[in-house]
Amino acid sequence: MTLAPNVYDAEPIPEAARAEIDRMLQNGDLFRYTAEESPVALLEKEFAEVLGTKYALAVASCSAALFLSLRALDLPRGAKVLIPAFTFAAVPSSVVHADCVPVLVDVKDNYRIDIADFEAKLDGADAVLISHMRGHTSDMDAIMALAEARGLPVIEDAAHSLGTKWNGRNIGTLGRIGCFSFQSYKLLNAGEGGILVTDDANLVARAVIMSGAYEHNWKKHKHDADLLAAFARWQNQLPLYNTRLNNLSAAIIRPQLNEIPRRVQDGRRNHDYVAAQLNASAWLTVPDPLGPEERAPDSIQFNLVGFDDAETLAFQDAAARRGVKVQVFGMSDDNARAFWNWQFLGEVPELPQTRAMLSRACDARLPARLRRAELDFVAQALTSAAEDVKGEALAYGT
Ligand SMILES: *Cc1c(COP(=O)(O)O)cnc(C)c1O
Repeated sequence: MTLAPNVYDAEPIPEAARAEIDRMLQNGDLFRYTAEESPVALLEKEFAEVLGTKYALAVASCSAALFLSLRALDLPRGAKVLIPAFTFAAVPSSVVHADCVPVLVDVKDNYRIDIADFEAKLDGADAVLISHMRGHTSDMDAIMALAEARGLPVIEDAAHSLGTKWNGRNIGTLGRIGCFSFQSYKLLNAGEGGILVTDDANLVARAVIMSGAYEHNWKKHKHDADLLAAFARWQNQLPLYNTRLNNLSAAIIRPQLNEIPRRVQDGRRNHDYVAAQLNASAWLTVPDPLGPEERAPDSIQFNLVGFDDAETLAFQDAAARRGVKVQVFGMSDDNARAFWNWQFLGEVPELPQTRAMLSRACDARLPARLRRAELDFVAQALTSAAEDVKGEALAYGT
């Protein structure tokens, strides 16, 4: 019998990281600016190559990357930034941190931005921050066209979307800036860390300086003529927020870059395998990806169909008894992905559509390393838990 899989452990760090870490433990060379070809600088170069962008800046977290992106855009104090109402609390927090005001946009029951509500809220907005929550891509064709028509910059929060494609293009490279996370639950794991990518020399020069490239440390970033001119423009003009990445983190990430294609492929295969089983239940539904989207999931989200609040909580308990932990985003007092818990914003709007989604949307981890028997265990536990609550399985269509 297969036991409940451990879905929380990350994959081991590739052996190749060890020699580099040993070297650093010997010479104590942990600060990115002691040398030009530091592990952090090499990570930036390699990550930009993987994504196909001109520039990358590695920092302490994706949240720091989002904050620096907003500051790099030089938005006025109080600028309105559209964000989806389904995201992680760190996203509105980064907006507040940048002295801007988040405007929450409704999200549909497929976890993606409601484009009609997005369009309605564009008037008066100064920037757009699209969070591809749990790697679900909103309609980027519509979003980019609407934002570009108004000259609004788009930042992509691709923290959980590394390896996702939209019309064959890498997520995180569609907007002016894309931000990724190296926190342990993301595709590349350094415990903590983040990186931003862009083709815009002016933006990255501002972000580099503000990340903590004091004095002339910007010279230790890979640079071209455009970037040199931009650095000269911003020298001594910007605050230093000191939110750099350290060399140890970079050394842990670099050997994982080769693993991206395998993790993406296995994650998608696992997700689609479990999704097919959940969709065969009358009580569970996994929304389809959008047409241009090629996903890179490491977890699965699905909606409960025809459950009230009590049944939803009962489902969560039943799944836990069967060995699979499920979170329903909107059914606890402190979930950081439920917008009404972002009380640091002061007033949060009523968004009944997003609230209804969050109250029935379930989330279960599904790491790329799981094997077939473990996936069957998860799928079986979830479909049986729904039956525990709702009675015998309904045959589909009856
Ligand atoms: C993880 C995550 C973040 C935050 O990333 P950190 O590196 O922990 O700051 C932001 N947005 C999304 C969509 C995430 O999944």
